[in-house]
Amino acid sequence: MVSRPFQVKCSGRAGLIGVARPAILAPMVKHRVHIKSFGCQMNKLDTALVSASLREAGFGLTDSVKEADAVVINTCSVREHAEARILSHLGHLKHLKQHRPGLVVAIIGCMAQRLGQTLLEHDAVNIVCGPTQIPQIAELIAESLAHSAKQLAVTAEIRHDAEPARQALEAFELAHAVDGEQGPATPGQAFVRVMRGCNNFCTYCIVPYVRGPEVCRPPQAILDQVKQLADEGIKQVTLLGQTVNAYQYTSGGKTWSLADLLHRAAEVEGIEWIRFVTSYPSEAFYDDILQAMASSSKVCNYLHMPAQSGSDRILRAMNRHYTAEQYLELLARARAVVPDIAVAGDFIVGFPGETDEDFQATVELVRRARYRNCFIFKYSPRPGTTSDKRHADTIPDEVKQRRNVELLAAQEQISAELSEAYQGRTVKVLVEGLSKKAHVNPTDGANHPQLVGRTATDYIVVFNGPPALAGQFARVRITQTSPLTLFGERID
Ligand code: SF4
Repeated sequence: MVSRPFQVKCSGRAGLIGVARPAILAPMVKHRVHIKSFGCQMNKLDTALVSASLREAGFGLTDSVKEADAVVINTCSVREHAEARILSHLGHLKHLKQHRPGLVVAIIGCMAQRLGQTLLEHDAVNIVCGPTQIPQIAELIAESLAHSAKQLAVTAEIRHDAEPARQALEAFELAHAVDGEQGPATPGQAFVRVMRGCNNFCTYCIVPYVRGPEVCRPPQAILDQVKQLADEGIKQVTLLGQTVNAYQYTSGGKTWSLADLLHRAAEVEGIEWIRFVTSYPSEAFYDDILQAMASSSKVCNYLHMPAQSGSDRILRAMNRHYTAEQYLELLARARAVVPDIAVAGDFIVGFPGETDEDFQATVELVRRARYRNCFIFKYSPRPGTTSDKRHADTIPDEVKQRRNVELLAAQEQISAELSEAYQGRTVKVLVEGLSKKAHVNPTDGANHPQLVGRTATDYIVVFNGPPALAGQFARVRITQTSPLTLFGERID
């Protein structure tokens, strides 16, 4: 990992560049920026903040790379596959730049932090900007555009005492979290970050190295943001943190937990659903959070709690601080307090040294946990992480693939059973918009555009209705089910 403090290459200057000053930066000719985002919800949120900051600085945004004067790629380093996709995308941009040398390409996000200046060696790349430096992105793009696609790199050492960067990030978040002009990417919904970084150092994970240590945001800033979003017409907020259930903030003699945030966010008029992701399997604050879910109809009965493996031996090697039985005990407690809770899990198959016996323990955990759905990934070593340093990537890819398919099949059977239970029921959904896939309507057999929405328990529901319903709630009677999707008819 490259972790040099604030560097500027080829510009002849070094030091922290301040937050963009829109009045000074506003280009004479309105330059257009195309933004492409890879990775998790944290990245989606950063992309929204960067979009808002670019607009404020006078740039136009465009969906078309061809029309763009600058391209920003928000990158992900969590898996090798994600980085490979980004490098392939850079290959296309390199080709484009042969005809348009003035096109500025900026890399932000985790890959920018992990690879730092070495990314500038790629022919397509002009700007490298780490996740804690995104408040500077508008200024960097303006500077590069003004100087014939000059190369600039700004990454900062990930340090526990990086207070100035922290303050700049918080100011950036407050300034751009609510972009009334552009509106939310998904109508009616918004993400609200409650914490940054992670302290857990699971041995396979790059996040603590590229996102830094856990820093919780002040509760009042979070709640003010929720209130502003409600004023803008947002109905659902998702509170985001790498280990969101570990949220803790002491202020005025009171220590705030995630449960406190959930209770207070539920009091905000206009907010109807509140979600939170991702939870670490831990005793800490667990019961309080379940009680918040049980006592407030606004807190969605949905828990995303990655287990990663069902083998205690592998969990120890991953530096996960629980056993499979303790994990299942947490789920049993959740179901005792919130009987209709839907649970989602994450798993890694093919961790170094994972035997068939270890893998079968994972299959057994999946069967017992009865997840609504699972996100299953094949292990890929991330440079600089403990598992990469300690273990060779010993499991052949065909074995990882076979385990992936087997685990998916086990989960699919459970998902199908849980979905079938919805047949004939009426559910409330928050409508996201037109479904990207063409669906045959089970009622009339016609293949026409359908709306897609989600229940509070995160079931995807496809149904008939006007596009104007996007961002609104609808009631849908379920007429057909599949493992991951429910189909139905809207009830007026
Ligand atoms: S809890 Fe583990 S897997 Fe999750 S972000 Fe932190 S280190 Fe990575």
